[in-house]
Formats: sequence, structure tokens, C-alpha cells
Amino acid sequence: AAKARGKACYQVFENHMHEMLLDRLDQEARLREAVHRGELRLHLQPVVDVASREVRGVEALVRWEDPERGLQQPGSFIPLAEETGLITEIDRWVLNEACRTMREWQETSPATAPAWVSVNLSAANLEVPDLTDRVAYALASSGITPDGLVLELTETVLMRDIEVTAGRLEELRELGVNIAIDDFGTGYSSLGYLRDIPVDVLKVDRSFITGLAGHRRQQELVSAILQLGHTLGLKVVVEGIETEEQLDLLIALGGRFAQGYHLGRPEPVASLRARLATVTAG
Ligand code: C2E
Ligand code: MG
Ligand code: MG
Ligand code: MG
Repeated sequence: AAKARGKACYQVFENHMHEMLLDRLDQEARLREAVHRGELRLHLQPVVDVASREVRGVEALVRWEDPERGLQQPGSFIPLAEETGLITEIDRWVLNEACRTMREWQETSPATAPAWVSVNLSAANLEVPDLTDRVAYALASSGITPDGLVLELTETVLMRDIEVTAGRLEELRELGVNIAIDDFGTGYSSLGYLRDIPVDVLKVDRSFITGLAGHRRQQELVSAILQLGHTLGLKVVVEGIETEEQLDLLIALGGRFAQGYHLGRPEPVASLRARLATVTAG
């Protein structure tokens, strides 16, 4: 009886696995079409100058308007896109869309247009042989100036093969674009790569901000990171500011740029533009 039950159990398990596999294949097929069908959406989150509270830049964050499941956040499809290699097509779409959007914004409302847009690039992009051409194309076809574009790469990506990576980034920087290290502080953090890899911006991971209030040691750590970045001549953006208290602390610790729900959530381009237009008018 136990054996029969075990077998039945296994059957249930097998069916379940089968369903999951079909589900995954189905999602992969639909994701593959998403780019061509125009189902990707660009959301923007403000990066704020903490002294003036003005929006200086925006980060492009992709969403997928899945006709079957509704608006999907990156966490639900980026991992699959990375496993299947679809990510480089998604990133290319975001890159072009972000540049085009900025150019249009700068032309129609120069008073409220942010100075820069940053775009996330997953690891696979560094293996795309024509990555530099793709970026050059996005700049040329949109007409934005190169220093208005920031490419965000995570620490773990940068550290994979420092020499190869440094070469690729040097090529990109020759176009005049800026390179940011995203989620700074979460990788293996051998600081040596700051010497070898050409970067312009550090984006301090939000895990450093959670619980910042009341934790002296953590405050000192953030202060040290800010000093290090500033000493190296880098722009330092602190992510994950969710409260006024965190913002005040950050200012006290010497922070200059911040991003977080307290300062603005990611939102569609039109709604952010409308919001910034009212702020400026009022
Ligand atoms: P990221 O590049 O570090 O982007 C910041 C993420 O933190 C965003 O999540 C943003 O909504 C969220 N966030 C911002 N402020 C706060 C805050 O105050 N509190 C909290 N709890 N979260 C905050 P999102 O949009 O879900 O994106 C998640 C990740 O997906 C991004 O992390 C990035 O690694 C990846 N991603 C997003 N768009 C793209 C893309 O176009 N290409 C690639 N390759 N990856 C992308
Ligand atoms: Mg990012
Ligand atoms: Mg980040
Ligand atoms: Mg992240």
C-alpha cells in the first residue's frame, strides 16, 4: 500500500513538473514575442539632488504588459529573459526607447527634462559583439548627447573578467556615455576593481539604507562609501530612500543624489512628465 501511495505521489509530482515545464515554455514563447508585439513598457524613476530636491536624472525600468497576466514587474520575467538570452533584445529595446523618450522630452519641455537617463544592462550584453554599435546607434538615432546616457552594470557582472570588461567599458566610454556600478556593495567587493574598471557613478544598494536610522555602524559605512566615491571623483547615488528620516540622515552623512519610493516611484513616462510639469509650475 505504501508503495502504491508512493507511486501515486510520484505521479502527482511528475504531473506537476510537467505542468511547470509547459508553463515555462509557454511564458518563454510569449516573452520572445513581447518585444515585436510592442508589449514592453518603459517606466522611469527619478534620481534626485538631495539639496534642492530637484529631479536630475531618471532610471529606465522595464515592465511587460502581458496580455494574459497584466503588467509584469522585472522580477517575474528578467530571470527567464536572462536564462534564455532574450535579455539582450529587451535591453536593446529599453536603450532605444529611453534615448528616444529623453530626446523628445528635452525638445518639448527643456525646463523639466532630466539631465540624464540610466539604463540597466544584464551580463549577457558584455558578450554581444556589437554592443558599442548598439549604443552608438541609440545615441545617433535619438540625437541625445552621450553624457545624458548612463549604463548601469552590477558589480558581479563587472568582476567576471576584469580585463575583458575593462576593455569593453573603455570602448563605450569613448562614445562619451557614463558607466554606473549598480547595487554597489552587494558583490564580492574587492575594491581593486575600482582601480581597473572605468566608472563614473556608484549606485549604493538599498540594503545599506534599510535600518540606517539607529545603526551607527551602518551610518559610518555609508559615510565611508560616499567619501570613497567622492574622492575618486564619482557621482554617488543612494538607492532605496523610503522615508524622510532616511533622507535627512543621508544628507547629514554627505549624500548628494538619491533614489527611492519616498522621492518617487517608477511610473510611466507620461505621468512622470505631468507630475514634474505641475511641480515646476507651482
Ligand atoms: P535596479 O536596477 O537596482 O532598480 C531598482 C529597483 O528598486 C527597481 O525595481 C525599483 O522599483 C526598486 N526601488 C526603487 N526605490 C525603491 C525603494 O525605495 N524601496 C524599494 N523596496 N525598492 C525600490 P524594479 O523596477 O522591480 O526592477 C528590479 C530590477 O530588475 C532592477 O534593479 C534591475 O536589476 C532589473 N531591471 C529593471 N529593468 C531592467 C532592464 O531594462 N534591463 C535589465 N537588464 N534589467 C532590468
Ligand atoms: Mg539599476
Ligand atoms: Mg540598483
Ligand atoms: Mg537591483
